[in-house]
Amino acid sequence: DRSLADTDPEVSQAISAELTRQQTTLEMIASENSAPVAVMQAQGSVLTNKYAEGYPGRRYYGGCEHVDVVEQLAIDRLTALFGAEYANVQPHSGAQANAAAMAALLQPGDTILGLDLAHGGHLTHGMKLNFSGKLYDVAAYHVRPDDHRVDMAEVERLAHERRPRLIVAGWSAYPRQLDFAEFRRIADEVGAYLMVDMAHFAGLVAAGLHPSPVPHAHVVTSTTHKTLGGPRGGVILATADLAKRFNSSVFPGQQGGPLEHVIAAKAVAFKLAGEPAFRERQERTLAGARILADRLLAPDSREAGIDVVSGGTDVHLVLVDLRGSELDGRQAEDRLHAIGITVNRNAVPFDPRPPMVSSGVRIGTPALAARGFDRADFAEVSDVIATALRPATGDRELARLRARVTDLADRHPLYPDLTEVPR
Ligand code: PLP
Repeated sequence: DRSLADTDPEVSQAISAELTRQQTTLEMIASENSAPVAVMQAQGSVLTNKYAEGYPGRRYYGGCEHVDVVEQLAIDRLTALFGAEYANVQPHSGAQANAAAMAALLQPGDTILGLDLAHGGHLTHGMKLNFSGKLYDVAAYHVRPDDHRVDMAEVERLAHERRPRLIVAGWSAYPRQLDFAEFRRIADEVGAYLMVDMAHFAGLVAAGLHPSPVPHAHVVTSTTHKTLGGPRGGVILATADLAKRFNSSVFPGQQGGPLEHVIAAKAVAFKLAGEPAFRERQERTLAGARILADRLLAPDSREAGIDVVSGGTDVHLVLVDLRGSELDGRQAEDRLHAIGITVNRNAVPFDPRPPMVSSGVRIGTPALAARGFDRADFAEVSDVIATALRPATGDRELARLRARVTDLADRHPLYPDLTEVPR
């Protein structure tokens, strides 16, 4: 068989260029990570050839004896990792996990209550152009204007007023922990299901560094590629009594054949997530985010109009608040991009600028922790970021910052043995 480079030089070259980009820049998009080579090897395997509709031991296709082993390993490792009774590892993505979880518990037209997208929620928690906003009647809760914490009094009030069938606790851009027990208390008061979407913080939960939603929620959904550090994909966790509903909601409800090559990669990631090195990495992830928040709250940043949403972080990300700065979110993103740091602009709560511009950047530490960054490295990259975000910083200074980024990247080689695609 011909290699990728021979078969398709255009795709091959783009992949090589992407590898170089990842190696020579610093990835600080909070929802990204650098998957281990073992994870990519499993995903780039012959399992991509296999149809396996159904579940282990109950397939609608022959020849599933080996993918059954793989999928059962993924299920067993995931339930053990989070202390859950039931797991479904087939959702192709986090959005599909949420679609399946909601479809299992709701009828179209039912009311859901989730965190407003503009205050850190996810598209699938009720945004009007998303399936969740189209299929369901949506009520949204918010963070408080003073401390940027989720307003649990509003959650309780809306729960009583709107009588949701499902309350969603979870976020894409929120730097603090949620009170899952309080969410469950409110859900029970109004007879709603509680769904926790732990896509962002699942790795922290797995490491025991963040409270687990599993004892509190009727259903927990997650992605596998963020802090968890696996392949792109989704999962659902629940109690055993709901197993049948979730299984049939994923297949045949939402999906056809599962991606067994991705499920194999999930299994590898779940194994790694149970190891001491993973916990140590998550500790550095958290420490790095705290170091960054502290640096951005130092006097020189404050004088430049920079603030940090909620005044700090308990998780793997910092939301930089540029409402008081001349630089908007897009300019900040571009500036960091120019010096080799990749982030995404993000609306901050009560953002006066339009979403395409926004007044914030979301900066995360998981990919750098995976790359081996220690506290000193995080202090260095935090200083680079704080300097770059001062409006007065000019081109000569930015060139010096680019050199410091290159130095950090060189000191922490990423995938040193890869040239193109994993072998
Ligand atoms: N849920 C949350 C909280 C997320 O942040 C995301 C991704 O950004 C998703 C779900 C969706 O995951 P995916 O992009 O895999 O569909």
